[in-house]
Amino acid sequence: MSEIQKKIIEKFKKVRRSAVGGHLRPHKPLLMLVALGMIASGNTSRLNSFSEIKPKLQNLLDKFGRPGEMHDPRNPFEHLKSDGVWEVSDGDKGGFADWVYEEFQKDPSFIFKAAEAVLSETFPNSLHEIVLADAGIRLGILGYTPSLAWQSGQDANFVGRVMAAYAHKCAVCSYDTSLDGNLFGLDVAHIQWSLCDGPDEVNNGLVLCKTHRSALDFGAISIDENFKILVSKKLEGNPEIRHFLFDRFANKPLMRPNNPEDLPDTKYLKWHHEWVFKGA
Ligand SMILES: [Zn+2]
Repeated sequence: MSEIQKKIIEKFKKVRRSAVGGHLRPHKPLLMLVALGMIASGNTSRLNSFSEIKPKLQNLLDKFGRPGEMHDPRNPFEHLKSDGVWEVSDGDKGGFADWVYEEFQKDPSFIFKAAEAVLSETFPNSLHEIVLADAGIRLGILGYTPSLAWQSGQDANFVGRVMAAYAHKCAVCSYDTSLDGNLFGLDVAHIQWSLCDGPDEVNNGLVLCKTHRSALDFGAISIDENFKILVSKKLEGNPEIRHFLFDRFANKPLMRPNNPEDLPDTKYLKWHHEWVFKGA
């Protein structure tokens, strides 16, 4: 990566975001991803009108911003200027600054590296592909291979302690399938995202199968303060599968860890409920 590309990555990662209740708003990162998605899909103008950017950004803000809140796409469109990577001209056209845009023109694979840097500062890994797809950035083109940052990226000690606390089983469905003695398809999730100051503590962790891990991070499920499983009423798809994977667990108790001290702390559960869960 060239020096200038490194500088862009630094700036993208350090974009200032407003914080509310330990949650950093994803508005500016989502705008950057929309703009990257437009370049990736062949849009050749550096600056685009707000009306062109708005519907794509609104869709992402509604999906990945705080549930139940009104999100104004005009805010990041105006405020990203102050981070030195974005420009707004004539009040209505916005896009990456010249020196930033030039790098994406010269080296299209840099679009993905930049997107990865933005995502890694904003969302848990399990959400990266969903967000990218929505931003119009498709993996697997231009020979881009996701780097290791897309793998777990978690502290091994934290993962080991949480796995042991829940006896290597999904705390929602008890999934524990192995092959030749090797477990596969299990994850350790933070209840309050580590990106939002959730600590690597067992009582902020859960063992979940891959499906329930994505569901927790995306807000399709949550846990209430009585440790009952909450399932979003907005889920769609094949009713039998949905019942098998989700509905049958609604209001059922979460699996208890071996040691009651390892139970999720209600402050993390509240955080998740408030910031991530898309209940109804
Ligand atoms: Zn599960």
